[in-house]
Amino acid sequence: MDKSYADEVARRRQAILERIEQAAERAGRDPADVRLVAVSKTVGVDEVIAAIHAGYRCFGENRPQELGRKLAGLAEHDDLPTVRFDMIGNLQKNKINAVLGRVGLIHSISSAHLAEAVSSRVLKHAGEEKADTAMKAPFVQDVLLEVNVSGEESKSGFSPDELRRAMPDLVELSGIRIRGLMTMAPRGDAEAARRTFSELRELRDELAAAYPAQDLGELSCGMSEDFPIAVEEGSTVVRLGRVVFDPAFELE
Ligand SMILES: *Cc1c(COP(=O)(O)O)cnc(C)c1O
Repeated sequence: MDKSYADEVARRRQAILERIEQAAERAGRDPADVRLVAVSKTVGVDEVIAAIHAGYRCFGENRPQELGRKLAGLAEHDDLPTVRFDMIGNLQKNKINAVLGRVGLIHSISSAHLAEAVSSRVLKHAGEEKADTAMKAPFVQDVLLEVNVSGEESKSGFSPDELRRAMPDLVELSGIRIRGLMTMAPRGDAEAARRTFSELRELRDELAAAYPAQDLGELSCGMSEDFPIAVEEGSTVVRLGRVVFDPAFELE
């Protein structure tokens, strides 16, 4: 990989970390409580390797096939530190086995049906270590529930009311462990983004109070255009694509 690209990715990482630190400070939060997922869906294996050298250890993909391609590409390099991938995109039921055991966290559980399907695949394969999954028993898949806070029709996820109604059943699914909530904000409107993130946090606080046995600590929100706002509003996981990988994306 081109050295100047690798340098640019490293320089951008420092700038991103600074912005996270400043946003956390404004909100009285510890910046160490914000995890960075570098969304690699639009770049190749070489760019991911540049990002690993820059210090990233967690990546996000939105297609199972592309996840497989990245994992296979990285496996050819045995001199790399261990990294983790998360699934951040729409997951079709027939692709569930392609991600189980290969991702740390599925951010995008957008319906009760999908939650049930993931849980039942995990339970079905538990102990069998089937060839079509990378699961090792005992295995429970960590997931986030995707919430369509803003109510935009183009977005997937539970509406807040749907989620309130579904929670009693969701917490009974023993193949998954619900770690928190995820959302996407409307684009290009900082105030709407802030409202979305703070409503996600309020919904999480309400559910955490109603289900004290669950650990709903994670709030996955904030992308290239709005991550400082998300950190101010409590995000624990920012999912950054262009700002990490695209030298043309303006930072500042
Ligand atoms: C692509 C994508 C991102 C990253 O978007 P950027 O604006 O490039 O930072 C984050 N989350 C999800 C779900 C995505 O699909």
